[in-house]
Amino acid sequence: MSFREDAATAIEALVEFAARAHERDGPVIRQPALGDLAQRLDLERLIAEGGLTGDTLHTFLADYLAASTRLQHPGYMAHQVAVPLPHSAIAALIDGFTNNAMAIYEMGPAAATVEVAVVNWMLRKIGWAPSRPPGGVLTHGGSLANLTALLAARGKVAPQAWEDGTPSNLVIVTSPASHYSIARTAGIMGLGQKAIRHAPTDSFGRLDPARLGGFLADLKTSGAVPIAVVATACATALGLYDPLRDIAAACREHGVWLHVDGAHGASALVSPRLRRLLDGIALADSVVWDAHKMLGTSTLCAAVLVRDHADLDHAFREEASYLFHDKDQPGIDLIHRTVECTKAAIGLKAFFALAAGGERTIAATIERQTDLAVAAAARLRAEPDFEVAVEPETNIVCVRLDGRDALQMALRRRLTEDGDFYVSTTEALGRRWLRLALMNPATEMADIEALIARLRTIRAELRSEFP
Ligand SMILES: *Cc1c(COP(=O)(O)O)cnc(C)c1O
Repeated sequence: MSFREDAATAIEALVEFAARAHERDGPVIRQPALGDLAQRLDLERLIAEGGLTGDTLHTFLADYLAASTRLQHPGYMAHQVAVPLPHSAIAALIDGFTNNAMAIYEMGPAAATVEVAVVNWMLRKIGWAPSRPPGGVLTHGGSLANLTALLAARGKVAPQAWEDGTPSNLVIVTSPASHYSIARTAGIMGLGQKAIRHAPTDSFGRLDPARLGGFLADLKTSGAVPIAVVATACATALGLYDPLRDIAAACREHGVWLHVDGAHGASALVSPRLRRLLDGIALADSVVWDAHKMLGTSTLCAAVLVRDHADLDHAFREEASYLFHDKDQPGIDLIHRTVECTKAAIGLKAFFALAAGGERTIAATIERQTDLAVAAAARLRAEPDFEVAVEPETNIVCVRLDGRDALQMALRRRLTEDGDFYVSTTEALGRRWLRLALMNPATEMADIEALIARLRTIRAELRSEFP
């Protein structure tokens, strides 16, 4: 078994996989049944007998990639997962090989240094000064990052909670459009979903800052204590940004922690043109920012960032004497600040994505994808029987064809079976929509035209079922 030769085989297979996907050669998605696939891949025999090298590896990779969803295909418009920049995947290989579990500095000085640099770069984009220790940490995904930020916020309003448990009058204030990981945090903290309090919104589901102050005052009167107000920037379904500056003003007035869930949308901070969408973000107390969405980074890499670095130390208070001891050391341990104990060098993936072409290249891609969404929305709106939910603020477009919610689901099912387009669906504004997350820089207006034509054909074929 030669690492060099097998790695070369894998890279060759990946290059061809991406090139064919890019050329729209073959489907974007194909879903063989799990049992059939397990047999074709010969998984049980390989586990028992080994031999995944040379020609066997070559054959295995061909079968594996044939049943892999092709994010590099221009018809990939379904989810907010990045089409990774190839260099980010190189970082994933380096990380996998070195396996430096860098939550303690001695297990990965280079990895920890890179993480701190990525965190500091993000802090500066928000408008916060880097510090030592840094005001942030990387986690395996935005959901964990949201949990971490809200634990830090809880530590502020209820410092005894780590010892005594979460007081039952704590609540989390947010909009119904916030990501489900926020509601999950209430469940994980033992507060239950009843602790999620939906503040008033405008007709598009954005938090309404004019009515937020009154809402917070009423909560206080009722005896509830907010852990935080969670603003979304931007919302997962429609891609709209909550108005951060005015929300921050209401939070300041009532002394409530403002958490900004920017998992998808914080990347707009990189663009001089688009960063106005996050105007006021520096007034927040904490921010979550995923690199594996709009920064072209291989999964997973998310950041939890705080204005005051000391706040992060309130998130977890635990002792593991073999790991957490005062030591004279040249670097910094991050293990006090994460759910994870063993942690991958995830900062390396974000760093490779950024450093491949520099931040201006990333900014140009984000601007291009946003412009494409605006153009796609205008084009879709021109079709008399298509309806677009909102003017896009980011690379997300929600559209529906005249008809029931079940029609939208049937359209998506048929698109997915055909395999040339892969879109998602979402519920927003009381109805079901087809949702396009335009993540792929190879997607062009011609693909939107082709999607419209395909939807029309399927619509006609579904006429008997949906008159
Ligand atoms: C994607 C997303 C999340 C979840 O992040 P993961 O990295 O998938 O765990 C949270 N909030 C928002 C607004 C998101 O778009």
